[in-house]
Amino acid sequence: MKTEELNDINLLRKKVYCSKCNRNTNHGIIYKHKEEEYIPEGNFYILEEYYIIKCMGCENVAFASDYEDSNTARGWYDEDLNDWIEVDLLTVYPEKPKKSKRLPSRLIMKNYEFIPGEVRGLYKQILNAYKDESYLLCAIGLRMVIEAICKDLKIKTGLVYSEKEKKKIRRDNIEGKINGLAEKEVILDKQADILHQIRKLGNKSTHDFKVPKKNILDQAFYIIETIFHLVYEIRKFNILPNESKHK
Ligand SMILES: [Zn+2]
Repeated sequence: MKTEELNDINLLRKKVYCSKCNRNTNHGIIYKHKEEEYIPEGNFYILEEYYIIKCMGCENVAFASDYEDSNTARGWYDEDLNDWIEVDLLTVYPEKPKKSKRLPSRLIMKNYEFIPGEVRGLYKQILNAYKDESYLLCAIGLRMVIEAICKDLKIKTGLVYSEKEKKKIRRDNIEGKINGLAEKEVILDKQADILHQIRKLGNKSTHDFKVPKKNILDQAFYIIETIFHLVYEIRKFNILPNESKHK
């Protein structure tokens, strides 16, 4: 098939990886095969599509498959995260080579039962960012997890040392909230120090776009997981007096 003819053919519904161009490109569909199955019990359908495709740039020929059934939407709106979670099962072969190896086993999403949904969803995304070596997103995400944990535990402020006033003042920023975690004895002062490092890491990432080092992120993950474990999973957060009881 010549390039001119490719202009007339249908495009695959989104850009996919081309192994020759080594990036995502538009692909024309040369051939499409469809398998449909409908199971009346449960009103369940399965739709599988197989494509022979051709890169619109270099004309490299590849194979792609797409899958959909009544249970797998292309995504859903997560109210907790206030974001659209995309699930796309369109796969191209050969697949984009994964640079990073598998996640270290300790970083595979554990079966946390008690961490809030918002934190869980966020943490999952951060693990994926880590896997993709998107360390900048990872640092920003970890900072968000700290914020989400504080929100969940209703920790809104904490004492922060002010250089200007030469004394500690109560602040409602993330620095204050981390100290708030220590004040309420959810974490130890030493752990707070480390969270401050993550906070600064997140800060740096957002403002200076410095890509954090992997080993710093590894430490950060370790601490966050420790908090998941101590604060939520062992249900230690009943040491956290609820605001009204405390007064
Ligand atoms: Zn190409």
